[in-house]
Amino acid sequence: MEKEKINYKSVVIKLVPTLEQKKILDRNLLKVVKFLEISKREFQKLIWKKAREDSEIKEAHSRLADLLSQRFTNTVMSNLLYPLDCRNYKVIKSNGWYKVAIRFNPKKEVCIPISRPDCKYYGEIIENTSYPAFIFKEGANYFLSMSIPLKKRWDKNRTSIYVGIDLNQRKHVASFYNPLTSRYEKNIFFDLRPIDKKIKELQRKVNLIQKGRRSEELSDSEKEKIKSLYEGIKKVIQKGHGDFISKLIKEADKYWEKGFNVVFVLEDLKGITKRVTKRDPSFNGWLHSKWCYHKFAIMLETKAYPVVFINPKNTSIKCHKCGSKVKIYGKHNRLIECSTCGYKDFNRDLNAARNIARMYKGDNHGMVRLR
Ligand SMILES: [Zn+2]
Repeated sequence: MEKEKINYKSVVIKLVPTLEQKKILDRNLLKVVKFLEISKREFQKLIWKKAREDSEIKEAHSRLADLLSQRFTNTVMSNLLYPLDCRNYKVIKSNGWYKVAIRFNPKKEVCIPISRPDCKYYGEIIENTSYPAFIFKEGANYFLSMSIPLKKRWDKNRTSIYVGIDLNQRKHVASFYNPLTSRYEKNIFFDLRPIDKKIKELQRKVNLIQKGRRSEELSDSEKEKIKSLYEGIKKVIQKGHGDFISKLIKEADKYWEKGFNVVFVLEDLKGITKRVTKRDPSFNGWLHSKWCYHKFAIMLETKAYPVVFINPKNTSIKCHKCGSKVKIYGKHNRLIECSTCGYKDFNRDLNAARNIARMYKGDNHGMVRLR
């Protein structure tokens, strides 16, 4: 973290070419097989090797790598693309909108607008840049695939505020720790009950369609309905994440304006499932799924502040003040008591968030994984 941290994200951006521009693009797009200058067979071998290196695929059926490499090769090799680099294109801004200015041979320049609603990285695009990219066509649509450096707000001369975030099924909690004052200066609680309610409503609809049947007993239209209900659940969760992240960023921006860095600290996803000890009737599997945590981390990482991950070991059972083991009690086990410091009826999730904030700040740098 000593130097400015830059993340690269490979993003796909939808383009909206005019009819005339489409014609020019179509004339210039190359078949991947021609662009790569390698045969289908060689390509398939590479993919097969790559697939075998993947631990999940390795453990699955031995033919999976064969099947994947074959399918993937066929799809990719017949795709159409146009490679872009600093010599033949530039991202420009005109009338407040981003466009891709591409110079085709000979001496033909076209400016293709970027579709704003389809691009969550729109705010991260920097004009007059030409990151390695290519245009590809899928169906009737044209896309730009580009590696964007997501520049983080980080200045090595500033003090960092560490924001520990504890994601729960009922409430998300964030605590802002200032090492200069050794104080937790700000807590943010995000109530998940409305989200939990919406998810349960949608899940009930799924159950009504399923009526306890297995998926092969369902008709195609029933399967479609269930699929779209599940998509609905995912959207509800993403919307919730977005609202919580907006609150966090608003607070982070204030600290940045005051001359601090802000570092978000999350628990490493690998330890997450271990934390479910008891299933109670109000348990919402969706809000405790790895997908949910992963999505949150990804969404937060697209923002301007660095995100770091700590080992979640003991974050919920030790006292944030003295490190002693705490007593956990109360309805749904949401309270803690520390006999050493005399804390009583203290919010367990807030205690966890504070531990998380301090675990990165403390001398635990060895256990921190940057990504
Ligand atoms: Zn204590």
